[in-house]
Amino acid sequence: MSVQEYLDKHMLSRKIEDAVNAAVRAKTPDPVLFISNHMKKAVPSVITKVKARQILDSRGIPTVEVDLFTNKGMFRASVPSGDSTGMYEAVELRDGDKGIYLGNAVTKAVKNINEKISEALVGMDPTVQLQIDQAMIDLDKTEKKTELGANAILAVSIAACKAGAAEKEVPLYKHIADLSGKSNSILPVPAFTVISGGKYSGNSLPIQDILILPTGASRFEEALQMGSETYHHLKAVITEKYGANGCSVGEDGGFTPNISSIREGLDTVKEAISRTGYADKIKIGIDVAATDFCIGTKYDLEFKSPNKSGQNFKSGEDMIQMYKELCIDYPITSIEDPFDKEDWEHSKHFCNLGLCQVVGDDLLMSNPKRIERAINESACNSLLLKINQIGTVTEAIEVVKLAKEGNWGVVVSHRCGETDDSFIADLAVAIGAGQIKAGAPCRGERLAKYNQLLRIEEELGDQAVYAGEDWRSYIAVAWLKVAPLQVIRSQLQLIKISALGLIFCLSVVGGNISLRFLPVSFNQAVGATTPFFTAVFAYLMTMKKEGWVTYVTLIPVVTGVIIASGGEPLFHLFGFIMCIGATAARALKSVLQGILLSSEAERLTSMNLLMYMAPVAVIFLLPAAILMEEGVVGITIALARDDWKFLVYLIFNSALAYFVNLTNFLVTKHTSPLTLQVLGNAKGAVAVVISILIFRNPVSVTGMLGYSLTVAGVILYNEAKKRNV
Ligand code: PEP
Ligand code: MG
Repeated sequence: MSVQEYLDKHMLSRKIEDAVNAAVRAKTPDPVLFISNHMKKAVPSVITKVKARQILDSRGIPTVEVDLFTNKGMFRASVPSGDSTGMYEAVELRDGDKGIYLGNAVTKAVKNINEKISEALVGMDPTVQLQIDQAMIDLDKTEKKTELGANAILAVSIAACKAGAAEKEVPLYKHIADLSGKSNSILPVPAFTVISGGKYSGNSLPIQDILILPTGASRFEEALQMGSETYHHLKAVITEKYGANGCSVGEDGGFTPNISSIREGLDTVKEAISRTGYADKIKIGIDVAATDFCIGTKYDLEFKSPNKSGQNFKSGEDMIQMYKELCIDYPITSIEDPFDKEDWEHSKHFCNLGLCQVVGDDLLMSNPKRIERAINESACNSLLLKINQIGTVTEAIEVVKLAKEGNWGVVVSHRCGETDDSFIADLAVAIGAGQIKAGAPCRGERLAKYNQLLRIEEELGDQAVYAGEDWRSYIAVAWLKVAPLQVIRSQLQLIKISALGLIFCLSVVGGNISLRFLPVSFNQAVGATTPFFTAVFAYLMTMKKEGWVTYVTLIPVVTGVIIASGGEPLFHLFGFIMCIGATAARALKSVLQGILLSSEAERLTSMNLLMYMAPVAVIFLLPAAILMEEGVVGITIALARDDWKFLVYLIFNSALAYFVNLTNFLVTKHTSPLTLQVLGNAKGAVAVVISILIFRNPVSVTGMLGYSLTVAGVILYNEAKKRNV
């Protein structure tokens, strides 16, 4: 093939010309670099090779490492491995040949990657994480990833995620945040292991870890400093109390002095904290890992002692009593696995006391079914997320969503066998977990995660938010803080926000005008039809149809309110048109706000959406008020002059309107616009009950009948939605 033929075949002349033109337009000082970058961007984004190998983890036990290649470069990932494994988690594939690495080699998992997985993934776009993970799940075909090995699948999933970020030219945490539909990154509170005990430590401390959580720091960097300083003060305290021997460290870097009781361990840590001067800013957590010393229905707190006193063989109730006392005597804010993994009853009982965060590790095994059960039964209120128990990035994000929907905290966790891969640091920031447990502030594989968090905080600069005191459920309290600012991403998004503001104003103005021509009860009766309009708009705009029975249930919901409003003899055509227009506008607003608050591409937090909507509303409503109410400005000033409290009431009224809208937005996030409107129709029934019970007001039989019908309709609607009919 001649050079010319080659150039023609690959359309190279055209591509080079484009690159040169772009360089000229950009007036770049370094055209060669510019052109080479330009050409690189033109290369299709695909996975070209996946190559795995066996390496050793921090315990000296084999694990899987993967190099995944795309046209952008090579992306490396390795997987951790833990001691506690259970029947509900994804399976780590090990060779089992006792003669080699005591049966722990992972050459089969490596082979699976190099042959089957590589073949399936080459040619795929690294940014489509879901499809990549699904391809591996389909290839494996088993529920617990036994065929290919969760260690093989996870290593590739993480490497692909890194490649996806590089392809998009964004930091890894940003790419993961996109994948999980989150827009604000939050630096987690680190839970540093400082004393190790439990099954794998040589001391007599029954519980697995004592941790410190610098919740009072203002930034992650400060939290790390607090952790490190406390760790070194602790080293001094231990040396004084137990001698230098006590300062050996366990697998995740915690000291292992010969402590025999939980209180002795907590006192030692408390002493170290008091030496730092950060007393109120550092809280304590414990990982009991109670499954390791549960015998039948009892808990043996002396399970490691050869000479048992018999005093420490506790029932579940005794354990609850012990935790209650510990929470009073020490600044304990988090207890992980306080009971055996199958002791749901005591977990529930303890969690319901609400004494502290109750983290489910062995109880949940990061398994979605167990998480769902624990949410339903309130058996704990926080998830310990160990990604290797799940096996793919996509599924890890899914279980986080599940936990957040249950209003839980999330602790992203390392494993005792770690590598220098810092993926979980980016993950914790991206999903806004609020907490990370990655071992002591010591040992390279643990610091790989904490140091990466330092880098992320530095990179985020002013945008960096440290979860701090809101570590447990950042989301739940976020609306009390000034919400982190989100930028508007596209012109279309701006148009939709403006339209939302405008439609909101139209519904307010239309409603007010109609009140001049129609009685309130007539207005209410027309307003009751909002669910019908919402159903129509929701269908037209999202093309998502509900089951037909769901639509049928709207009839009693709406008819009830119309009946309750009573027959109105007064009819005015213009007033009616205004009223129906305002009703339709209200329905359109709830559908549009639902889209803006929850769509993948345009998701905004409620605070941000309100903030962007506000100027449109002001620009429209102020002149509308001046036009509609003659002399409104003069009247307002006169009233305020007469009594300054009038201004306070006015501001209070506006603030109330703001919070009503904010609440409306917050609720929309958790439900559909239609459900919101259906529930809105039931509010009359609530008013009737309050009116009778509290104010002893008489209510008409027609009113009662109407609202009873609406309530029955709401119940039917709920049932129909649940069954999707
Ligand atoms: C833990 O229990 O918190 C933990 C890190 O477990 P593993 O030792 O099994 O990794
Ligand atoms: Mg644990």
